[in-house]
Amino acid sequence: MMAAGRAGSRGRRVLLIEKNKSVGKKLSITGGGRCNIFNAEEDIHALLGHYGTAAKFLYSPFSQYSMQDTRTFFEKRGLPIVIEARKRAFPASQRAQDVTNTMKRYAVENRVEFLTGTKVKGFAVAEGRIVGVETTNGFYTADAYIVATGGSSHKETGSTGDGIAWLKKLGHTVHDSSPDVVPVTVSEKWVKELSGTTLSFMKITFGIDQTKKEGKFSRTGKILFTHFGLSGPLILNSAHEIKKMLVKGPVRATIDMYPDTDIRTLRNRVLELFNRNRNKMLKNILQECVPEGMQDAVSAQISVELLHTRIHSVEKDNRNKLVDLLKAMPLTITGTMGMDRAVVSDGGVDLKEIDTKTMCSKLYDNLYVTGDVLHINRPSGGFSLQLCWTTGFVAGSHA
Ligand SMILES: Cc1cc2nc3c(=O)[nH]c(=O)nc-3n(C[C@H](O)[C@H](O)[C@H](O)COP(=O)(O)OP(=O)(O)OC[C@H]3O[C@@H](n4cnc5c(N)ncnc54)[C@H](O)[C@@H]3O)c2cc1C
Repeated sequence: MMAAGRAGSRGRRVLLIEKNKSVGKKLSITGGGRCNIFNAEEDIHALLGHYGTAAKFLYSPFSQYSMQDTRTFFEKRGLPIVIEARKRAFPASQRAQDVTNTMKRYAVENRVEFLTGTKVKGFAVAEGRIVGVETTNGFYTADAYIVATGGSSHKETGSTGDGIAWLKKLGHTVHDSSPDVVPVTVSEKWVKELSGTTLSFMKITFGIDQTKKEGKFSRTGKILFTHFGLSGPLILNSAHEIKKMLVKGPVRATIDMYPDTDIRTLRNRVLELFNRNRNKMLKNILQECVPEGMQDAVSAQISVELLHTRIHSVEKDNRNKLVDLLKAMPLTITGTMGMDRAVVSDGGVDLKEIDTKTMCSKLYDNLYVTGDVLHINRPSGGFSLQLCWTTGFVAGSHA
């Protein structure tokens, strides 16, 4: 819609072909229905740093359409923006549908014609140029073609990876798609029993072997327990690295429930708590040292006998074991969820084969590529949609 509207604003005659009955199905479910519309990081180097190895290709398109341009675009069209934690920008209305409606209006205002309920089947090529598209509603020809068919996550929205397959057939180098910003599966039963619980400030350390320093990494943030394992921003943004570790086997992880408190301080605090409650049973003071939501999980790691022991009889070793659990509750990550749960799939067309000043294919001079069709890794936080606004605008400016 960005590419189509932009091309229309230059006086081009534009046809937008969409296989669903309406446009923007995925856009309308983004950010849990609130749409994290972009990331408000103002420092361009810091912003592009989130796109990994793709960063160097993105300076040119972002110099034509930046985060500030996105903000102005929506605010000018009556959609005020609010910035939340981690610079995540949302429409003040908190409704993703309003973003979709704004984009639709932009396209309509710029005389884009919509052909919905029509699936593109592939490109026709003659003498090294695209000469038309075969669709379920006939054959269409144009001077230029913009592929904006998305990746392969949440296929029910219409993003079934078609564009990536066409570009591969046309000779482009394509990286295989796999779920990337995606929840993970965990083997421990207690994790599944906490399904629906969110914990806000937890630190998780991931590693293949927790006893070795090498290859380990930690993240702090929000986690969500689900009936299959773990989700939430911390997990989604760690999934790319976890996936690499999973190749070698299950990933051992530990949850630190007190990331701001070192183990010695925590031991002293628990000792003070024990001293104040010497005649109570251990199970009756857990709520005072275990964060809400984790009490059943921690209890499940302690023997029934110990839970019913009066504090004055709990040995130092057992007290320290409780603190160890608070600082490093173990769990085992067995895999990632599939494409149906992925926020972003990686894979797509190699950026080396796209002129990112125009988003034109280097193999076909009238073919343009945008959004999730491109092979660009990025975390959650508004970085995906910003890519769509930027690459869409640039393609629409040059096609
Ligand atoms: C659950 C979820 C939440 C997300 N939340 C956020 C968020 O808050 N912030 C963020 O930045 N990113 C988010 N993302 C990622 C973001 O939605 C995508 O990066 C973005 O939608 C990609 O836009 P696109 O235009 O490239 O493709 P898509 O939005 O996937 O659109 C592609 C369109 O092409 C159509 N199409 C496909 N094949 C054909 C064909 N053969 N013929 C005709 N039409 C076809 C599809 O029906 C679809 O409408 C989220 C993703 C998911 C799945």
